[in-house]
Amino acid sequence: ELALRALSAGAEDYLVKGTHDARGIATAVLYAAQRRGAELKAHRYERLALSLLDAMEASTCAVDDAGTIIAVNGAWREFAVRGGADAEATGVGRNYFDVCAGALGADARVAADVAVGLRAVLEGRLPRYERDYPCHAPDQENWLSLRINPLPDSGAVLSHVDVSRAKRSELALTHLGLHDPLTDLPNRILLYDRLTQALSLAGRSGADIAVAFLDVDQFKRINDSLGHPAGDELLREIGHRLRPHLREGDTLARFAGDEFVVVWPSVSGPEEAELLAGRLTDALSEPFVLTGASVTVTASVGIAVGCAPQTAEELVLAADAAMYHAKSHGRGRTRVYSAELRAGVDRRLRTEAELREALRNGDFVLHYQPVVDLHRGEVTGVEALVRWLHADGVRQPDAFIPVAEATGLIVPLGTWVLEQACRQGAAWSGQGLDLVMAVNFSARQISDPQVIRGIRDALTASGLPPGRLLAEVTESTVMEDAELAQVALKQIADLGVGVAIDDFGTGYSSLLYLKRYPIGALKIDKHFVAGMGVNDDDDAIVASIIALARAVGAVCIAEGVETREQQAALQALGCDYAQGFLFGRPVPALELPGALERCRSVLAAPSARPLRRVGAKRPQLQGPLLQRIVELHGAGGSLHTIAAALNAEDRLHPSGRRWHSSSVAKVVAALPRQR
Ligand code: C2E
Ligand code: CA
Ligand code: CA
Repeated sequence: ELALRALSAGAEDYLVKGTHDARGIATAVLYAAQRRGAELKAHRYERLALSLLDAMEASTCAVDDAGTIIAVNGAWREFAVRGGADAEATGVGRNYFDVCAGALGADARVAADVAVGLRAVLEGRLPRYERDYPCHAPDQENWLSLRINPLPDSGAVLSHVDVSRAKRSELALTHLGLHDPLTDLPNRILLYDRLTQALSLAGRSGADIAVAFLDVDQFKRINDSLGHPAGDELLREIGHRLRPHLREGDTLARFAGDEFVVVWPSVSGPEEAELLAGRLTDALSEPFVLTGASVTVTASVGIAVGCAPQTAEELVLAADAAMYHAKSHGRGRTRVYSAELRAGVDRRLRTEAELREALRNGDFVLHYQPVVDLHRGEVTGVEALVRWLHADGVRQPDAFIPVAEATGLIVPLGTWVLEQACRQGAAWSGQGLDLVMAVNFSARQISDPQVIRGIRDALTASGLPPGRLLAEVTESTVMEDAELAQVALKQIADLGVGVAIDDFGTGYSSLLYLKRYPIGALKIDKHFVAGMGVNDDDDAIVASIIALARAVGAVCIAEGVETREQQAALQALGCDYAQGFLFGRPVPALELPGALERCRSVLAAPSARPLRRVGAKRPQLQGPLLQRIVELHGAGGSLHTIAAALNAEDRLHPSGRRWHSSSVAKVVAALPRQR
């Protein structure tokens, strides 16, 4: 309708394609009025123009070249009144420069900008001015778009278009792009943005900025055991628990998966940062209730304190490195990034570079340690242990395997070890020396889809029979991703290769799990063997591992056997195999024949008597209690769960104390005999 009226008014010459909005039409009409004013009665056009102006939704006014308001429309009057100003104060005759700041809800800065823009348009220096601003007038949470267009000879038309709806959806979109949908916390992008801003502000004030990197311990286990919805719920709940501990200006962001990052824009130093981080970890200490289950959660925290010229990325990286360090020392720890830690990181990086080089040059060699059959008193196998021939001397695996694992270099290194060990095993076979070759596989190798093919290829290339290879996987590897390990171990066993669980007793495997795996052997961790005859708990644990191996149809291999007493004690418990310095240290392939000779002479010597300590009491168990333990054990409970169940049922240990896994272990160890 407006357009028609404009056309009939002869304004068509001024209507440019694409600008047919109400404002454009009104301007066109005014132009037309101006041009035709001489011929036709100008006031008619003026009236028409004013009525058009009135019909516009945008609050609009026209000003003369001094900024004095010469016309306003209905929307303008309404807007001003709603905003708390009286019509008089914003009406014709007033100066727009005064009105804008006071009555129209623009803040002082916007008003100043607008004044500059309006002046430029009035003076012909700017063809048009446009600016969006939030309107803070009482009762109005709006966004306005102010557009200033010049009038033909002098003056201008100012229209305020309400763009609140578009602005709100734009803001919502921005929010979406900067927040994590699960927890509604700032995401990584917003985190870096805020941190960068904090760094530039702190640079001026000289304050330190603290960044905490918080990683939930064993989150994967919660996800695996309770399901992903419970994992999601936990993450949301963690966000809720942490939020109240932040002040205005602090940032809590979800960085990735189970990782959160907190930024404190001004701290006095690392001590304060640690204190603040302590409040966060305290907030997580109460159990969480997830899908009906009560779950206790810990988090590992790394803290970095710094200021410009450090960048946001550097600070987050440092906090991440500190977190990594904290985690490697166990759960629920906090660590501040420091010079030594940096040295450690540098060392790791150096080792990584050297490892790559060593892999290219083939600077590795395998040593072989004899494994003996305790029942028959003969050597039946060897374990292949890798050594690095470094320019500074031979390096032991503990100095580089963790770096190789962290960087993935363990995969090519492991492939080399496997091929070399298989070749050596086959070569010895050709010399009439039939030994089982034990090879260590790390978690990274087990989760590598190529592992099965690698084993098959190594066997084929060397001609070593599959049954002569034993794949050793640590208990922690298996527990890290139980489902994946189950599949991989099954495939390995299907090749006819033996599977041994290494360092057994250090993890938390339950019997049920063990039964699901095609396990041929359990290797008792050398720390338990070292504690035999010294520490009651270790005796009990070794005995229960041997019983456990029997229960799942596996053989038992004791590691780290150094004394004849340990050998005798293990034999008395019925342990099947052993390896350790007593029988021989790991040696290069060429020295193995000599090592086997010495090993045989150790086996031929008369055996020692096991260490028996006087006064070591066996717990006296009553019928129902014992029965309950047998039941729980039979149901596949781990030592931990059995202890927890007994405590929950208020069944006390005969000593009157609560149950621990070690006390359960003692009873379980004695089970086969008691049954
Ligand atoms: P592991 O698999 O538990 O190997 C046994 C470790 O105990 C070896 O240390 C061996 O030298 C040491 N040992 C043997 N008998 C005794 C003893 O009587 N007393 C004491 N105190 N220690 C004894 P090593 O060779 O330093 O290897 C350390 C670890 O590095 C291994 O522990 C294994 O986890 C890892 N590793 C070694 N070679 C490889 C490999 O080729 N691949 C992978 N993934 N890991 C390897
Ligand atoms: Ca091993
Ligand atoms: Ca071991």
